[in-house]
Amino acid sequence: MADKDLRSIEYGKMEELILTLGDKKYRASQIYDWIHKKQADSYGEMGNVPGSLKRKLADEGYDIYTVRINRVQESAADGTRKYLFELSDGNLIESVFMRYEHGNSVCISTQAGCRMGCRFCASTIDGLARNLTSGEMLGQVYGIMKDTGERISNIVTMGSGEPLDNYNEVLRFIRMVSDGHGLNISQRNITVSTCGIVPKIRELADEELTITLALSLHAPNDAKRRELMPIANKYGLDEVLKACRYYYERTGRRLTFEYSLVRGNNDSDEDAAALSAILKGMNCHVNLIPVNPIKERDFRQSDRQAVLAFKNKLEKNHINVTIRREMGRDIDGACGQLRRRILHEEE
Ligand code: SAH
Repeated sequence: MADKDLRSIEYGKMEELILTLGDKKYRASQIYDWIHKKQADSYGEMGNVPGSLKRKLADEGYDIYTVRINRVQESAADGTRKYLFELSDGNLIESVFMRYEHGNSVCISTQAGCRMGCRFCASTIDGLARNLTSGEMLGQVYGIMKDTGERISNIVTMGSGEPLDNYNEVLRFIRMVSDGHGLNISQRNITVSTCGIVPKIRELADEELTITLALSLHAPNDAKRRELMPIANKYGLDEVLKACRYYYERTGRRLTFEYSLVRGNNDSDEDAAALSAILKGMNCHVNLIPVNPIKERDFRQSDRQAVLAFKNKLEKNHINVTIRREMGRDIDGACGQLRRRILHEEE
């Protein structure tokens, strides 16, 4: 379906399309500008494009798939804005806008729902509805830019979905959003977060991109990881870490490991020691996330002391570590929480 979404068509392909329709090449650049520089979301807005060309495109089935704001919640605490977007087929997805000192960051969804089944995550409870097109990923960024009137400098794929389970569209999104014909966001400011689909991590390493890879680790050994993340049954930690090392060798990009701390589950002193051991010698950074409790599961957040002790232990072992600033806790901040609440409210 992505092939009829005008917002999903890369610059070169847009030129080919316009030429095939018997029009002049520069029309492609006008249309591309409207969609990606002026964030137009309908033919109507494209003032300097002739009606005959718009009609030809529409007759061929081309359209700009809608990514419409359904509702927005703003955190009173930190100004984080959480968006619920409605897609053309009625699917709902979430995105988050966060202000940091180093610039504004948008967290996008790559799928409606998810099929990875991580135990603590709300996005996966109802399974996967469908993959998003690259245009629908861009649409989230553009929609937020228009709504806030602010620039976006960082993008992370930490909304709902597993990006490497929608590989081709996510790749196209990364290429388009970092392209000079579009927003021109530096690939260094784009982070792809994955639960650890090993063959896809290796494929990504070979794409010659300069994006950051974030690996959702969440446990220091296979037994514990399997309890939290079903994907760990398919790919063991050894393999996952090997693929991460390969990513670093190929790209030279420092790795990020995400580790959600669950009380009494993966937050002990021994866990911190085991984590230090498996990451020893890697050029990496660990991001500790006190688990965001969701009502469907009884995981609880580690207390502040355990979080700090965990951090100290890693630091003593010379591992770079930060505790993720908890943003938007008051607005269903955890992945998939808002979408789920609305879906089930409206049922
Ligand atoms: N599928 C990708 C993106 C998921 S969301 C991945 O697995 O990496 C980004 C991060 O948030 C992941 O590390 C995910 O495991 C984590 N996460 C999901 N739900 C959470 C929750 N309720 N509390 C804390 N972290 C959570």
